[in-house]
Amino acid sequence: MKGFEQLAQWVSISDSPTDRENHSADISGHSPRKPDIVAYPESTAQIARVLSWANAANIPVTPWGAGTSAEGNPIPIRGGICLSLERMQRILELSIEDRLAVVQPNVKYRELNRQLSGTGWHFAVAVGGDATIGGMIANNAAGPKAVKYGATKAHVLGLEVVLADGRVIRTGGRSAKQSCGYNLTQLFVGSEGTLGVISEAIVRLTPEPAFEEALVAQFPTVAHALHCASTLGGLDAGSIEFLDRAYMGFLGEDSADTLFCEFHTAGDGAEADRRCWAAGATAVRRATDSAERTRLWAARLRAYTASAEANLNARLLTTDTAVPVGKLQQMVSFLQDELLRRRLTGYLLGHAGDGNVHVILPWISEAQRQAVNEFSAAAVEKSLSLGGTASGEHGVGIGKRKYLQREHGATAVGLMREIKSLLDPVGILNPGKLLPD
Ligand SMILES: Cc1cc2nc3c(=O)[nH]c(=O)nc-3n(C[C@H](O)[C@H](O)[C@H](O)COP(=O)(O)OP(=O)(O)OC[C@H]3O[C@@H](n4cnc5c(N)ncnc54)[C@H](O)[C@@H]3O)c2cc1C
Repeated sequence: MKGFEQLAQWVSISDSPTDRENHSADISGHSPRKPDIVAYPESTAQIARVLSWANAANIPVTPWGAGTSAEGNPIPIRGGICLSLERMQRILELSIEDRLAVVQPNVKYRELNRQLSGTGWHFAVAVGGDATIGGMIANNAAGPKAVKYGATKAHVLGLEVVLADGRVIRTGGRSAKQSCGYNLTQLFVGSEGTLGVISEAIVRLTPEPAFEEALVAQFPTVAHALHCASTLGGLDAGSIEFLDRAYMGFLGEDSADTLFCEFHTAGDGAEADRRCWAAGATAVRRATDSAERTRLWAARLRAYTASAEANLNARLLTTDTAVPVGKLQQMVSFLQDELLRRRLTGYLLGHAGDGNVHVILPWISEAQRQAVNEFSAAAVEKSLSLGGTASGEHGVGIGKRKYLQREHGATAVGLMREIKSLLDPVGILNPGKLLPD
């Protein structure tokens, strides 16, 4: 606590080993690092107090939502203060009339949807982890429904943000259309806590689908499955997901390359069914009943957790390349060839509808860590050569910083640095993330 005592007059703080440990790692394989203290603000004013004090004292501050990131994004790698927003979990307003919700940053998206249940409206981004809306905005998270609804950035109307020196700004507003000035809201979306701390958000609500049909189809090869996915365009698909045969086999399912889809217009499931057979499917199952839909999707829903639980002694590297959707087959066949060539174990999970594919690679020894990192570097190079990106949804965090310049060019990265030093001149906010050294 030494050196941080003054903070205790404004905000609850803790240096207990458990609290520090609980804010030292996310789900990525990046090395954990404990913060010196954890601060638990309960209001915008308290966040502002912590930041202005830390800014004056040049102490790192790393915001923390639920810690479910996959790229080291919330790990406080330079120590200092972890700003845990867990005491800011209030839904401040639900307005169906204005189709929006106003939330404190640590409202979990699942809780928001629980509160909206029965209204016919929902927050339309869903990720596998129990993430907070602040963390989803900060990472611009996407997930399986992005093929229909887009990533988080499409669902943010306005923000309240505390800047590094403690000033508070409001960006955007409540109207669905906004064309008034620079889009500061989107500057903070995807900024991973490096430009300011989101203390409140106005998020868009979307009508819930009136109809949902699940379809799961097995194919003899990845090429068949992904070709089929490419033929589903034009249908009202809520998700088009993919697991490769290695992943399915590992999960104890039929070892087949498999598509997991959801359709929101009656008749589109039947049409997709026909297109699956035409594309060479060996089995197709469909369901509209809620319990049956969950059962059909069970393998997809438990995939990540199962691979983490089965590799308790290992760390997992998860790649996150995303390519233009027409290049997905090329990308996936490259990844599979590279796994074979490098003799690596890796499981492929794709958001096939929008060209985003993850390879989950367990590693234990230093040699294995190096091997999976080299694989990841090759995947990024291939993705960029196909017009894609190093990160489709997990963000830059620690692991993708080295690719920022390669993806955006020196001039654009230089401009990013200027924005960072304008908003955070001392460099206290989540240092060591997003921008390369
Ligand atoms: C099983 C599982 C499945 C997942 N599936 C997906 C998926 O399908 N798609 C996907 O995109 N992601 C997925 N994720 C990753 C993760 O859930 C998302 O990245 C999510 O956005 C992280 O939210 P969080 O609340 O845990 O934020 P954290 O991990 O705590 O923080 C995320 C980043 O935001 C910053 N931050 C947090 N709160 C604030 C704030 N209020 N203001 C400013 N900065 C802040 C942190 O410093 C950090 O840089 C998955 C994770 C798990 C565990």
